[in-house]
Amino acid sequence: MKTLLWFHRDLRTHDHSGLNWCLENGHEVVALVCRPFVESSNFKLQFWNECVSELKQNLSTAGIPLFISETSALETIPPLIEEYGIKHIITHRRMNQRDRMEVAQVIECCAIEVKELGDLTLYESRLEQELSLDLLKPFTKFKKFAEANWTVPDELSRHQKISIAPYQEKSWLTGGESAGLQRLHDYVHVTHACLNYHETRNGMLERDDSSKFSFWLAWGALSPRRIYHELRTLEKVVGPCQGIQALIYELVWRDYFKFLAKISGESFFDLEGIQHRSREYIQNTELLERWRRGETGDDFVDANMRELKLTGFMSNRGRQNVASYFAKNLCLDWTLGVKWFEEQLIDEDPENNWGNWQYLAGVGTDPRDRIFDVQKQALAYDSQGIYRRRWLGETIELQDRILSLLAIRSQESSICPSEVLPPEDKKNKQRMDEVRSAARRLNAIGVIGIYQKGEKIDPNLVRGPIRLKKT
Ligand code: FAD
Repeated sequence: MKTLLWFHRDLRTHDHSGLNWCLENGHEVVALVCRPFVESSNFKLQFWNECVSELKQNLSTAGIPLFISETSALETIPPLIEEYGIKHIITHRRMNQRDRMEVAQVIECCAIEVKELGDLTLYESRLEQELSLDLLKPFTKFKKFAEANWTVPDELSRHQKISIAPYQEKSWLTGGESAGLQRLHDYVHVTHACLNYHETRNGMLERDDSSKFSFWLAWGALSPRRIYHELRTLEKVVGPCQGIQALIYELVWRDYFKFLAKISGESFFDLEGIQHRSREYIQNTELLERWRRGETGDDFVDANMRELKLTGFMSNRGRQNVASYFAKNLCLDWTLGVKWFEEQLIDEDPENNWGNWQYLAGVGTDPRDRIFDVQKQALAYDSQGIYRRRWLGETIELQDRILSLLAIRSQESSICPSEVLPPEDKKNKQRMDEVRSAARRLNAIGVIGIYQKGEKIDPNLVRGPIRLKKT
């Protein structure tokens, strides 16, 4: 029987029930993947291309051709069915309403049987039977229930016909299942960094501060069940371990948002969120742009936003802070924040992205509706300012210089920013702008006031010479 194996966010050949099913049942398989995004940073696009190209190579070992389409499934699938005489389609179970709509449209348009199999999450096999919105509010209830009642199924053994390309040591951050499996192996069995995960997970500087599995998980190039079982294997050797527990806890969060999307339908994508809660938002393109560029005046937010733009990644700590700041301090429409993340993040994952954003915007399932005190977080998680210095570079050094000059002159109430610059720079406009920008940051966190002609002024209106005063 001719079968179309339609890949989506399951770009792997290990632990893949659809692929195993086709091979075990002796189907003649044609595989397809359609790029599931339009807007994208180069980082994300490159990672996706790498995932897809390795998938093509790995499938070819079992004689399965992979078609890669840049247009939608609805445009691509009908002619393929026609050309190859395809009798039915196998694909992974979609979790959010928008992706489910796409599958429904294909079924309707092609009048063909589509079999959906699920291995995107730890607990997916229980999805249909026992899930309700009530169970998902709040997360802790879900987690307790899942752990008490469900078990994570064994990973599927790889079909003998498939071989996975050997890992090529180009860069650790390469798309494709071989690099994902290598990262898993290194993190769990070589460096054993997972054992310290509980202590390091909020770090923002080092590769091993957190697992970085999200890059591969987001595209399905790494199976969550494989991760789970590798961690449990190590645990059998080292005994109960907080690091391993904490990492599994995060994987359950991942399941949680996928299940929440599945159960809440289109409201998962609404501005009012799954709570149907309306809040006041302002429209301000200038503020939106400043947030995107990392020029809000809050150094912790800015450092994180610049990291995102320059690398395609941001830590979980950073994401929580910039999202809370966006929705609750700037009071901007949080769905615009989601869309920026969607475009920039290499590990962009619709359920995790929309679910976390609405949680922080106060329209999701956070029972406390908290607001992050971003500068307090900066002190707690970047007390030496090393992270901020890395991404803000000179501006933050200037900030330090301003602060130390103010400290030296503690008897005097004001200094002129030109004193912060070495003499040869005094006429340099760009450097003066940097001083002003550093001053604005300090003003935003209440360390100094900015004065012009003796009057305290709005820091965003600063143009000419300014004087700084400790507040
Ligand atoms: P680790 O800390 O090592 O965690 C291991 C795995 O657990 C992650 O790879 C991820 O799959 C899962 N996980 C960890 N934290 C969360 C969480 N808060 N929610 C759900 N799953 C989690 N994650 C994405 O994969 N894609 C996104 O588009 C995404 N957008 C986010 C947007 C916001 C506003 C916030 C606050 C979080 C978002 N996250 C997203 C979740 C989390 O920030 C990332 O999964 C994590 O930072 C990835 O790094 P890591 O793999 O080293 O995580």
